[in-house]
Amino acid sequence: MRIRLSDITQPTLFREKVGPVTLDLGYHYEARVAPVTLAMTVSPVETGHRLEGGFDYEAVLPCSRCLEEARLEGSAEFILDYRPAHQAPIPEEETEVVLQETQVIYYEEDMLSLEDLLAQQMYLEVPEKALCRPDCKGLCLRCGANLNEGACPCPPEADSRWTALSQFQPKS
Ligand SMILES: [Zn+2]
Ligand SMILES: [Zn+2]
Repeated sequence: MRIRLSDITQPTLFREKVGPVTLDLGYHYEARVAPVTLAMTVSPVETGHRLEGGFDYEAVLPCSRCLEEARLEGSAEFILDYRPAHQAPIPEEETEVVLQETQVIYYEEDMLSLEDLLAQQMYLEVPEKALCRPDCKGLCLRCGANLNEGACPCPPEADSRWTALSQFQPKS
């Protein structure tokens, strides 16, 4: 859904189903965010429009240790100041300044996409290292087996520092 900000001349409450959206996490990894109910008030202010709202979310992304699905649940709240781009201090640059709690966003076009808004806020929610479970054992560094599914056939290491060294032999 898209909202034309210039049409909003008095505080207006929105309650919309938004999503699903997919976040690109780099290295071909992505987070899939299930549809959310986004509630927010859009108010005209001197500098443009202020958006205040929040949503509860559920997302799935790869576990940083074993690459199986990690589930993420939580709620996000935001206060955003949308200002026309001509007010930006450095017009050529893509500007997104965080001032205290409020994020200031300068826009070129006053059509606000709620999907883009959800994606922007979710990038802030996704942790750098997600885990499928707090005690995920990860993958064996030698054979690649998922150690959550049981022990792998690799022999135990007596002292990993020395075995790592003795295994380091040039291939002939
Ligand atoms: Zn895991
Ligand atoms: Zn192994």
